[in-house]
Amino acid sequence: MSTIRVHSPANGELVGEVEIDTPESIRAIVQKARDAQVEWGLRPVADRAAVLLKVRKKILENTDAIVENAARENGKPRHEGLLHEVLTQLELLTYFGNEAERILAPQSIPMRLLKHRASYIHYQPRGVCAIIAPWNFPNHLGFGGAAMALVAGNAVVLKPSEFTPLSAQLLRRCYIDGGVPEGCLQLVNGYGDVGAALIGAGVDFVEFTGSVATGRKVAAMCGERLIPCVLELGGKAPALVMEDADTTRTLEAVLWGGYANAGQVCASIERLVVHEKVHDAFVGKLVNRVKALRVGDASGTADIDVGPLVNQRQLEIVERLVADAVAKGATVACGGKRVEGAGFFYEPTVLTGVTIDMDIVNQETFGPVVPVLKVGSEAEAILEANRSHLGLLAYVFTKNGGRGRRMAEQIRAGTVMVNDVLATAAAPETPWAGLKSSGIGVAHSDDGLRHMCEARHVNYDALPWLQRELWWFPYDKKSLPLLRRMLKLLYDSPFGRLL
Ligand code: NAD
Repeated sequence: MSTIRVHSPANGELVGEVEIDTPESIRAIVQKARDAQVEWGLRPVADRAAVLLKVRKKILENTDAIVENAARENGKPRHEGLLHEVLTQLELLTYFGNEAERILAPQSIPMRLLKHRASYIHYQPRGVCAIIAPWNFPNHLGFGGAAMALVAGNAVVLKPSEFTPLSAQLLRRCYIDGGVPEGCLQLVNGYGDVGAALIGAGVDFVEFTGSVATGRKVAAMCGERLIPCVLELGGKAPALVMEDADTTRTLEAVLWGGYANAGQVCASIERLVVHEKVHDAFVGKLVNRVKALRVGDASGTADIDVGPLVNQRQLEIVERLVADAVAKGATVACGGKRVEGAGFFYEPTVLTGVTIDMDIVNQETFGPVVPVLKVGSEAEAILEANRSHLGLLAYVFTKNGGRGRRMAEQIRAGTVMVNDVLATAAAPETPWAGLKSSGIGVAHSDDGLRHMCEARHVNYDALPWLQRELWWFPYDKKSLPLLRRMLKLLYDSPFGRLL
């Protein structure tokens, strides 16, 4: 049996080991999920929602262990473990635990033409959902989707990232202890081929979170099988700092938005676009704050701001993008190199004099590097924001509320926040969705939950005594003028307008 040995990205220590699943074990797991889903899917939504609220309790009881796992396996600072991994889960479980019954209640459709009939949509589970997750939020990402799929009545087979399989085991235990049947939430472990085998094992729905490159492969597999999928892919979030931005709030927000989780957030600020009137003063202050960030191994202490990158490959991507920018004329205002010694640490970095031909402006960095672009106007800032092939998150900073919303509406991103960063990841009532190459479909929100169900339409007779319809057979000379008059009445008369 092959295994994955998980090493700490901060100090290289062996943290644990998991067995890799085979195509046979994956098929057996999916079958077990299918069997278990039958009873789970028949339970009233309210019962399943009550289970989510019990899971919340189990997660609260295991908070320290979850934070510890995230620190050891992922290098996550403890504050981020608590906020990004625990709070986000608790909030999501609370929202859908309290709201699922309302969200999944049948919806009637007011009829326009066929007034003698009535329609409604009812939501039924899809069956077995495959959730394929990345490593940057090992608890929140996979299990956010899992919680939603479960409350919708599905069974879930979750494939965590090969870099963070241990966090998933503990969180699954919380779900099972909270009352989710064993077969309804199972894990498969392995590399990309295991993710692909899971999609090919007869699942009914796929929620994939990961890179654009893998997302394309997942979409192709789902297309081949005609399985619905939601893809949550990469980001290159711009933060537009206008000349009237509040300096203190903007500075703190940019600092956190650029360097939280060592910049390994799909919503991280990856392009800082600053109005020329405030550029020098703002960037000077930012560099001072970035230099003061404490980089280190979170497994021993709470006093760490920025942890390591997840692996050597990620470190090399960051090094390559910074080298390309410098070769094309960018200035390293601070940072700019890896930290010598154990672990995959990279110094928090600010690059100035950045231009749009540099790879760092066009490719996802996923590291603690903020490249700064200078612009002369609001229009130029919006143009810059929209120039990316990615469109997940974007941020606008201005003290003028009307201007902020106006600018936000012109930016092609799934979410634009005004005077804030990242935070809607912890607001499950809001949609989390990528435009352009950042994804397809929506995670979180009422729509996201409904999409985890089959939306089935029922149309029935509101006037059951009616014997026949006007347009049924026979087609004869008598009925043709009648139909013509009907068209005129419906679409070219005051009566039609009343409809
Ligand atoms: P990745 O694409 O390398 O891997 C993601 C998952 O897919 C892993 O579990 C991996 O084993 C699996 N996988 C790999 N090849 C596969 C295949 N052919 N078929 C099925 N599964 C396969 O991504 P990553 O490096 O783990 O994560 C980082 C990326 O995720 C970044 O691009 C980041 O922006 C993105 N991300 C997006 C969001 C979002 O909400 N949009 C959130 C977090 C991360």
